[in-house]
Amino acid sequence: MSGCGCAEVVTPGLLDLFDARARMIAAARPITGSERVGLGEAARRVLAEEVRATLDMPGVDNSAMDGYALRLAELGAESLPVVQRIPAGAGVMRLPAGGCARIFTGAPVPLGAEAVVPQERVHLDAEGRMRVEGDLAAGANIRRRGEETRAGELLLPAGARLGAAAIALLASHGVGEVAVLRRLRVALLSTGDELIEPGTARVPGQVYDSNRAMLLALLVQAGCEVLDLGVIADAPLDLHQAFAEACDGADLVMCTGGVSVGEEDHVRPVIERLGGIAFHGVAMKPGKPFALGYLGDSLSDGTPLIALPGNPVASLVGWQLLALPFVQVRQGREAAPLQRFPVVAGFSRRGPKGRRELLRVVLDWAAGTPVARLAGGQGSHMLSAASQAHGYLVIDANNNVEEGHAYEYCPAAQFLD
Ligand code: AMP
Ligand code: MG
Repeated sequence: MSGCGCAEVVTPGLLDLFDARARMIAAARPITGSERVGLGEAARRVLAEEVRATLDMPGVDNSAMDGYALRLAELGAESLPVVQRIPAGAGVMRLPAGGCARIFTGAPVPLGAEAVVPQERVHLDAEGRMRVEGDLAAGANIRRRGEETRAGELLLPAGARLGAAAIALLASHGVGEVAVLRRLRVALLSTGDELIEPGTARVPGQVYDSNRAMLLALLVQAGCEVLDLGVIADAPLDLHQAFAEACDGADLVMCTGGVSVGEEDHVRPVIERLGGIAFHGVAMKPGKPFALGYLGDSLSDGTPLIALPGNPVASLVGWQLLALPFVQVRQGREAAPLQRFPVVAGFSRRGPKGRRELLRVVLDWAAGTPVARLAGGQGSHMLSAASQAHGYLVIDANNNVEEGHAYEYCPAAQFLD
């Protein structure tokens, strides 16, 4: 137990959660193969090659304000005539001596001008001559050519995931098309004789397949192309056939259910027949029956396979903490570091035995600083709390939760990247 100086007691045979995560990241190999897409299709794609600046940014010295461009030496004059008008989009002009230029945000500062005075600090007299209140420093309100980036500098590295700002950055350099890695192809299947398709009639005892719907959404959200293989029966032959089919053309096979150690759990022996298991069983609650394996010769040469638990919240957590970083690396990007920070618990609770527990919590901001409260029932089959939760309070194995004490909190929003 932590705090007593002795080693944390984890159920024998289970891998520590963070070790398992590190092993997932280390095991993932990036795919190759790219395509060119226009910026309109580039959102959330991964750059296959670096992109360099095509121009100095900004491209010319330009005004940061609506105002007047002038020479500092002429500022002392009683007032200056406005001799030029420079809107955004105008070419680069030269400021005549003895006058100032009306200028607008983004417009090229005329040659000879040393500063721009914002219009709020200016008085115009009846003849349209301009007088400035207060003084002005050299370079004030001028955005200098190349002050952000010089042509040829690195804009975005290979492996960057293209968010809205990155797409805008590319557009600002006139880049209309980029090389992105092809989408990761993931074959997805559920196993369980009890599972039926949502939208169909049910008899008692049957269970709607919620994991496949959830994983489909998560994989699409992560930018993957999903090959949906449906529900496979709890029968070794059916599973064998499904896995053999799944690895044809897929970069990753993902299945859910049947990976515990019950006699109806056939996933592991079938994987062992078609390939092998890298690890099975993680000291986390929910999410213990998680496995990383492969179909074929080895993890690096064959098709990797991630077996997620059947219990719906276990499946979700297994995706978020273990499968997602693997997918990210296989997609050619970096695994996002796990964000966690201390948050005070607003409840007390007996601690988990032998496994780290991920309590589904909401953050209550009523007091100004966040307090974690249970989002609802914590059973690994209870999707209600998982669907409400803002994140997880991570409780180390064999530690009790005491109200008012801080524990590590993992925001769930980080897993949507
Ligand atoms: P298993 O891991 O196959 O032993 O399943 C554990 C629990 O999760 C059982 O209650 C299953 O009915 C349930 N379960 C398994 N797969 C799914 C699924 N795809 N959708 C919803 N529940 C499932
Ligand atoms: Mg089952």
